[in-house]
Amino acid sequence: MTTDAPLRLYNSLTRSLETFTPVHPGEARVYTCGPTVYNYPHIGNMRAYVFADVLGRTLSWKGYKLTHVINITDVGHLTDDADAGEDKLEKAAADKERKGEKTTIWDIARHYTEAYWADVKALNIRQPAYWSIATDYVPQMIAFAKSIADEHCYELDSGLYFDVSTVPDYGRLARAVTDDGESRIEPVDGKRNSQDFAIWRKTPPGETRQMEWDSPWGRGAPGWHLECSVMGEKLLGFPFDIHTGGIDHREIHHPNEIAQNQAFCHSDASGANIWMHNNFLVERSGKMSKSAGEFLRLQLLIDKGYHPLAYRMMCLQAHYRSELEFSWEGLQAASVRLKRMVMAVEKVRELAPAQPSGEFHMAVVEQVDRELSDDLNTPRALALFEATLGGSAGASDRLNAISRIDEVLGLNLIALTRADLRIRPKDAQITEAEVDAELRRRKEARAAKDFAMSDAIRDDLAAKGVEVMDGDPLEWEWITGRN
Ligand code: AMP
Ligand code: ZN
Repeated sequence: MTTDAPLRLYNSLTRSLETFTPVHPGEARVYTCGPTVYNYPHIGNMRAYVFADVLGRTLSWKGYKLTHVINITDVGHLTDDADAGEDKLEKAAADKERKGEKTTIWDIARHYTEAYWADVKALNIRQPAYWSIATDYVPQMIAFAKSIADEHCYELDSGLYFDVSTVPDYGRLARAVTDDGESRIEPVDGKRNSQDFAIWRKTPPGETRQMEWDSPWGRGAPGWHLECSVMGEKLLGFPFDIHTGGIDHREIHHPNEIAQNQAFCHSDASGANIWMHNNFLVERSGKMSKSAGEFLRLQLLIDKGYHPLAYRMMCLQAHYRSELEFSWEGLQAASVRLKRMVMAVEKVRELAPAQPSGEFHMAVVEQVDRELSDDLNTPRALALFEATLGGSAGASDRLNAISRIDEVLGLNLIALTRADLRIRPKDAQITEAEVDAELRRRKEARAAKDFAMSDAIRDDLAAKGVEVMDGDPLEWEWITGRN
């Protein structure tokens, strides 16, 4: 089946919607800036990968052969995106050492990479063609830097710096008021322009890093921006089709990548045809911040009794370019919506064998295609999808449409069951079988008009973390979101 609506995507570089025209006919090559693995990802980070996944699924759905790269940053990312601060991984390792833990930087990177991959899996984010690991590409980074060093870089005591005045139109991608951007960049003695950035950072004399390599500019480590230019070029070739990341990357990281790419290609072109950025997930109380003790990890949501796909649903309910505010109420609403969808699909599945397939239920698939082709309008696609679940077409047709549309939304609706969605919160004090037994007892009490008993059973269940839902086909639910 072909889905024919032309795909239009918002390009941050031209600040306009553009029709997707692949560099290589029939293919789509996408690079996504991946996590820095010095800590667990928070759910805001994961929004960036849900967005990249929906983009990738949409491209596949529309028939493009997708090659997706997501990198893992295990070296070079400083505590500030510009040139200030310490390497995030070296700092994490030093913190552990101070606490007397014998953990190497490599152990830290592996641990948090695996934690990130677990979140990827739980959110039904598809595996990219490549997870490229920055430290696997250091020789290539040195070769890349050598090729641009003479024309575009200069050496200081602290390392090799890129001179942003050597490329045309530096920073055209960025939106922040320039003064703000500049004031964040810590002065380094001898920098020609305040926005110049390190390509190679020398290990200061007398210090050793756990991760360091020899280079023509001394022993040290690559600057963070270099890895994405190098892995993008090696795995996808310049120009590739789409580069993605969160909006913070639009200000420093991606402008710096673009400058390197321009230098490498001896061209004004940016290295990718379309640059796409997801807006932030925000949380008022500041729990998103990794420095804030208990921060919002996917596992925290799971511990409170939410299915991880409820968070995926929450992401899909907002357009990727809109800010999304996280709240437990919002997550609860997304969870209920997902549950209702799963129940509706279960019903369609039961009916399907009795209603053999006629015409494939094309109209709704085409409508969903139009919405997703309009810069990935997932909120509208979801609403259309819900209409299919209760529509009047035969159940087999509806089931076909559901599985086709779910390929792109990735909510796993065909396989999920209501029972899967019931995750026992960590603090619940009763098993599902015990809940069922209590509810049977309550039914008997009500049949005998013993309402005091019925209420007592309900209150007792509530105290144990269970909400009784009279009149709802679900009958009961875990009380989620309790602190
Ligand atoms: P990092 O591991 O810090 O490099 O971030 C990984 C990805 O998450 C990047 O694409 C960031 O732009 C993105 N990101 C960081 N914070 C948020 C947030 N609150 N909401 C959405 N995306 C975010
Ligand atoms: Zn990057």
